[in-house]
Amino acid sequence: MTVVESVAPEQGAEAKMPPGVLFEGPVVDAKFRDSYISFALMIGGTIGALVWAFTYGIGWAEISVFAGMFVLTTVGIGFMHRYFVHRSYRCGPVMRTILAAIATMAVQGSILKWVSNHRRHHLHSDRPGDVHSPYYDGSGNRIEGFAKGMGHAQGGWVWDKETTDAEYYAKDILADPIAMFFTRTRWYWYALSALIIPAALGYALSGVHAMIGCVLFSGLFRSYVMTMATSLVNSVCHSDGRWGYRRFDTNDGTTNELVTTILTFGEGLHNNHHRFPRDAYLSHAWYEVDINGLIILGLGKLGLVQDIFSAGSKTRGSDGGKNSIPDTEATV
Ligand SMILES: [Zn+2]
Ligand SMILES: [Zn+2]
Repeated sequence: MTVVESVAPEQGAEAKMPPGVLFEGPVVDAKFRDSYISFALMIGGTIGALVWAFTYGIGWAEISVFAGMFVLTTVGIGFMHRYFVHRSYRCGPVMRTILAAIATMAVQGSILKWVSNHRRHHLHSDRPGDVHSPYYDGSGNRIEGFAKGMGHAQGGWVWDKETTDAEYYAKDILADPIAMFFTRTRWYWYALSALIIPAALGYALSGVHAMIGCVLFSGLFRSYVMTMATSLVNSVCHSDGRWGYRRFDTNDGTTNELVTTILTFGEGLHNNHHRFPRDAYLSHAWYEVDINGLIILGLGKLGLVQDIFSAGSKTRGSDGGKNSIPDTEATV
């Protein structure tokens, strides 16, 4: 148990929130509109997928398309996180367009929204102002009870009315025409990921029956499962050591956790990540397998991305790096 429990509960809600948080207005309304529609589709699709699977069964076509799209979008969230949020490396406009398309196809909100939320998360990690901490709600009030906190971090936070102000956290995204194109056209990319590609592949592989099965199971259900897998980073990997282990004594409740690391292709190495937020490669030991990081290193070898950032590499295999690099060097 670390610093998380030592933070005193504060009184009052909105007054104590840090800047960069919106409490009402069109951005809050738009957030709820997007969340209601996307979760209604994903949860409706999940129920449909289960009914379909038990009624008609699913076959190799549905399972293959599920696996392929899960891999693609999990890599996409890696791009969203390490490129658009943390700028772990640089790339040209063609590569940025590809990264933006795959990132948006994860159906986890627009680039603008994801980047804004995640930067706010790092700045206030497990403190009042954190967007999805297990310890504080959207108003900065202490959450009582471990299970309730985990529920908030795993998904309850989406329904907090407090919303991150992109003007405060993501001016670079607002000024990037490629990222903003994908932010504006996000629903087309969600449809491509959850409906059109699964339908086309299902039909091509095995006809109309597989087409319906692929939309429900490999499109909508997979989007929901994948979003829940990513959210384990917010809950399990902020469990203050209850699950996983803490390599670094960071100022929050982050852990590295094996199952989450496997399901998210490396994002579950979250204690390492909070210690060195800008690092493109999160592994600090042979047993910490960071597939998303290896993909970035591979893209670097191919010359498709440049200037891959690595502060943590100076400390790998040595003292754990607790005090070797100031925290301020590698924040968001
Ligand atoms: Zn975190
Ligand atoms: Zn991060």
